[in-house]
Formats: sequence, C-alpha cells, structure tokens
Amino acid sequence: MVSPNSKVILERDRLQTILDAIRAQGFRILGPTVRDEAIIYDDISRVEDLPIGWTDEQGAGRYRLCKRSDQAVFGFIGGAHSSKQFLFLPREMIWKVVREGKGFRFVDTQRDSAPLAFFGVRSCDLHAISIQDKVFMPVDPGYRARREKALIVAVQCGLAGKTCFCASMGTGPRATGDFDLALTEILEKQRHYFVVEIGTQRGAEIMEHVSHQAAAASDLEKAEAATRRALSQMGRTMEASDVKDLLYRNYEHPQWDDVARRCLTCANCTLVCPTCFCSSLEDATDLSGDQSERRRQWDSCFNLEHSYLHGGNIRSSPKARYRQWMTHKLATWQDQFGTSGCVGCGRCITWCPVGIDITAEVRAIRESEKRHGND
Ligand code: SF4
Ligand code: SF4
Repeated sequence: MVSPNSKVILERDRLQTILDAIRAQGFRILGPTVRDEAIIYDDISRVEDLPIGWTDEQGAGRYRLCKRSDQAVFGFIGGAHSSKQFLFLPREMIWKVVREGKGFRFVDTQRDSAPLAFFGVRSCDLHAISIQDKVFMPVDPGYRARREKALIVAVQCGLAGKTCFCASMGTGPRATGDFDLALTEILEKQRHYFVVEIGTQRGAEIMEHVSHQAAAASDLEKAEAATRRALSQMGRTMEASDVKDLLYRNYEHPQWDDVARRCLTCANCTLVCPTCFCSSLEDATDLSGDQSERRRQWDSCFNLEHSYLHGGNIRSSPKARYRQWMTHKLATWQDQFGTSGCVGCGRCITWCPVGIDITAEVRAIRESEKRHGND
C-alpha cells in the first residue's frame, strides 16, 4: 500500500507498467521523444518511445543530439518543447457564434478531450507550469479545464546542461512538489532502477497498479546524490535576489543598445520559453455572414505588430523590444504576478540563433554598475 509522500523502487524493466497504468486511467501521455535530431514532446505509449541512450549537448545558440555510452532513459536535458504547448495551445478558438433566425447563438468551443499526462517533467518546468497557472487559471476556461485534469510525472535531474541556471532561480534541480509522481533514475553497472516519490493520492493510485518494492535508505541517498551531481554541473548562474531593482535602475543603460545590435527580433526566445504567454486575437467571419469566430494564437513581444496601439508601435526598435522582454521576465513580472517570470531553464539561450544569453546581459549591466556606480 503506497500513500502520498512515500518513496518506492521501480525496476527499469517494469517502467512500461507505469505508462500502462496511466493509459488505463484514460490519459493521453505526452513525453520526451526523439524526432528531427532533437528531443521533443509528443504522444508516447511505449518505453521505447523515450530517448533511451540519447543525450543533448547545449550551449548559447547550440543544440546537438548525441549517443550516450549507456542506456539511460532520461540522460538528457531537454529540447525546445515544454508542456506549455499542450496547456496554452499555440492556436485556440476562443468563441464561435452562428446566426439563428434574427439572432445569434454561441457555440461551445471546448472540446472534451482526453486528460493529459505529462511524463518526464523537470523541476524548472514544474515551476513554469505554476507560473502560467497564475496567468491563466483565473481567466482562461480552456487552460483551466486542461490543467485541472492533468497528471504530472516529474523526473529528477541527474545532470545539468551548459545553459541551465535553475539553481540561481530557486526552481531546481530537485522537484519538491507540484507532481503526482517523481522518478529519479539510478543507473549502475549491475542494476538500473528508479526511485519513485509519490506526490499525490492520484499518484498513489497509479502505483497500486505497478509492481514496486520498498526503497532502502541507500536508494534514497543515491537519489539525493543524483541531484547533487546536477547541481554541480549547472552551466550558468544569475544573481537573482536584486535583479528587479537592478533593471529598474538601468532602463537607459547602454547595454540595451549593445544587445539590440545582436538581436534579430526573431522571437525564438519567447516561443521556447515555458512561461511566455503573449498572444494575439483574430476575428474571422465566413463569406455568408452566418458564422463568426474569435481565434487566439501565440504572439511575441519581439514582433513589431504586437506593440501596435492606436495608430503606432510603442516599441518600434529592437532595443525597446529586447528591454521589454527581459525587464518583464525578471522585474515587472514580479510586480504583476508575485514571482519571477524566469525559471532558469536556459532554453532562450540555447535556441537563440545568435546566442544571446539572458544571464550574460544581466551580468554586463551589474558589472558596469559596479564599475561606474548607479547614479
Ligand atoms: S534574443 Fe535571440 S532568440 Fe530572442 S529575439 Fe533576439 S535573436 Fe531571437
Ligand atoms: S527566460 Fe529563458 S531561461 Fe528563463 S524561463 Fe524563459 S526560456 Fe527559460
């Protein structure tokens, strides 16, 4: 009998049973898989769908998939995808009306789809989900319906990448809550298994259908050691405690001109960011005038049109748009939602085509302040 807060052992050759137990409860399982030379998030049903034996090398503007020398199931950092695209959909119909006689009738656009199970979510992305919850749960019924039903199986990071800085942002590498189950992979010469932390009653009910055994103190120590290893490999750091005031003091800093000379305003950083939520709306009416729809799609504060207001763009230069993005992420987000908008996942650094690094930009402003003072 397992219960929330208990920890058990699952042998590697029984990992399929956890996927089977989740699927038997009617969930659509989304997890990491290899496609187009990257690790992406997609539907999975078999353990073989996971990136077994693969790892990813990441750096500023650099991502490479490589073979590992072992058969680790979660021996990678992660790709551009996160659960964002399944909870806050890239395109969604907000409402639809059809003509009926002399009036109109609203049609229910919420499709009753299968509940989602996210398999292999890292600690930074758990924090990103709870940040997006603050944005969407109070106002977005579609997001709320998907989120309330979602099951989360986290994976504790045993390695960190060159662009990771979750430790600086207080969001990792160890997941401490907001999951139904959390797996730590232990790969030894003679044995390959997972320490499973049960986070919720729902997680406990799944484990009732999975053959497992009690965890020994030595297993728990090995799981903690995996987190310490990830912590020691953290590729980047950011001094986050006073970053809000630092950026508010430096709204006219020359570093914004410097980064604007490099930034292509391509919007990659916002699309891969698991917390960014800019969107735009479009209304469409069919030619007969009998039916009209309002659709929402992802947008970006790097797009010129996104800041169009009453006859003009309020952020017409790349400098203004980069400054808006970074200052929102690290400073004004705190005033708006009571949390940083950055979880230190490093995706914006990896997937920026010119390798712009948010940690380096903050550091450049901080160091120039130290050199020149802040008056
Ligand atoms: S910072 Fe990089 S990824 Fe973001 S808009 Fe500029 S060039 Fe594109
Ligand atoms: S700003 Fe960059 S590092 Fe921070 S959460 Fe977004 S993608 Fe990750």
